[in-house]
Amino acid sequence: MRIDVVSIFPEYLAALDLSLIGKARQDGLLQLKVHDLRDFTTDRHRTVDDTPYGGGAGMVMKPEPWAQALESLVATPAAGTPAADQVSASERVETQIAPTTPVVDQVSATPVVDQVSASERVETQTAPTPVQPDAARPILIVPSPAGEVFNQALAYELATEDHLVFACGRYEGIDERVLEWAAEHFRVRPVSLGDYVLNGGEVAVLAMVEAVGRLVPGVVGNPESLVEESHSDGLLEYPVYTKPSDWRGRGIPEVLLSGNHAKIARHRRDEQLRRTAERRPDLILALDPETLDTADRAT
Ligand code: SAM
Repeated sequence: MRIDVVSIFPEYLAALDLSLIGKARQDGLLQLKVHDLRDFTTDRHRTVDDTPYGGGAGMVMKPEPWAQALESLVATPAAGTPAADQVSASERVETQIAPTTPVVDQVSATPVVDQVSASERVETQTAPTPVQPDAARPILIVPSPAGEVFNQALAYELATEDHLVFACGRYEGIDERVLEWAAEHFRVRPVSLGDYVLNGGEVAVLAMVEAVGRLVPGVVGNPESLVEESHSDGLLEYPVYTKPSDWRGRGIPEVLLSGNHAKIARHRRDEQLRRTAERRPDLILALDPETLDTADRAT
């Protein structure tokens, strides 16, 4: 799987060099590359933000650096692939898709479109590029507290994709037109890590890449360990224990020492149901009654 992350803090993503995801990168199972958004700016100060139209607190990420960065990703193969290795950096720039957003006035750094009236603006707009069929477009995940909430089902869905691109917002977020424009080249998915606000998309991307990456075949050594996890069957995982069996006066459930696999499986299933009902009753309500057996219902 190819993963590209665009951020103004590429160093933030250094943790993706570690542990199982780091090893999967070394083994070539994940071709993960982090890109600095500022490399796609054209002004001396490498500006990526500006004040919001309509006023209000904070800054908004400018559209053009994002368009340049994202265009470079649909136009170039993953680093490390034979095709990418044959193309030099300068050649790569030439093969980028022509921008559909207005050229920036180099003197004032104001988009030229700002100097024309609304009616002229409609006439001078470039015809949109025809939208490619779904499978031909990579998924663009835009972390946002205003997106669909990330969960294990989405992680499984994303793990089947060939190419994911993550666009890490900062400040008050990315100019909304980037998401509209990007739909010509990507399947755009604004995704939230949860109902709270972070300072930037990087932490959300760390979580999503880890959750998705570990589902890519070969990344986790024993695929069995992915089956009996929280959220794999709509329930939370049962409590787990290791040696010693007696620790600071606390024992473990006797059945786990019995060697009776059927009884252990039943015990664990009961514990899953009990724990889920206690901590996440919403998950119990969301269960398909067809998936419950008689013993489940008794629990
Ligand atoms: N003004 C935005 C709002 O109220 O929806 C919040 C902007 S936040 C300070 C800056 C960036 O952090 C966002 O653009 C997004 O990339 C990221 N972010 C914040 N909270 C997030 C969450 N719960 N899930 C995913 N990304 C989040």
